[in-house]
Amino acid sequence: MKRNRTDEISSQRESRERERFYRKNAEFFQLIDKIRLWPARGGILHGIRSMEFHGTTARITTFCGESFVVRNSRNSRAARWLRNKWCGCKCRACGIPDWKIAKYSKTHMNQSWGSDLADRGK
Ligand SMILES: [Zn+2]
Repeated sequence: MKRNRTDEISSQRESRERERFYRKNAEFFQLIDKIRLWPARGGILHGIRSMEFHGTTARITTFCGESFVVRNSRNSRAARWLRNKWCGCKCRACGIPDWKIAKYSKTHMNQSWGSDLADRGK
C-alpha cells in the first residue's frame, strides 16, 4: 500500500505512543498543559492553542478561537471530565489530529502511582 510521507510520520508517532500514567492529584493546570485538550460543556473536546498562567487562573485559547479563564481546580467539571474521559466528540473547527486523541486515550489517571508532574520547574 502506498502512503504519503505525512501518513507515515503520524502512524509511526502513534505506534510509538506508550501508556502514560498521571497521579489523580496532579495539578490540574499541568495536566491540561500535557494533554492540550479542553472538554467543553456538552462533551466536545477542543484543542488548546495556548495557555497563559496567572497564579490560580489561566487563560485558555482554543484552536477554534475561543478564549476563557479557568481556575486551577482538580475538582472542577473539566478536571473530572478529563480524568474520566467523558468527552464524546471532538470539535471540528479545532481540527484535533488523531494522534492527539490517541495519546489522550492512552493517558490514565491513577490514585496511587504515576507522575504527579510536580517536578516541573517553578
Ligand atoms: Zn474547538
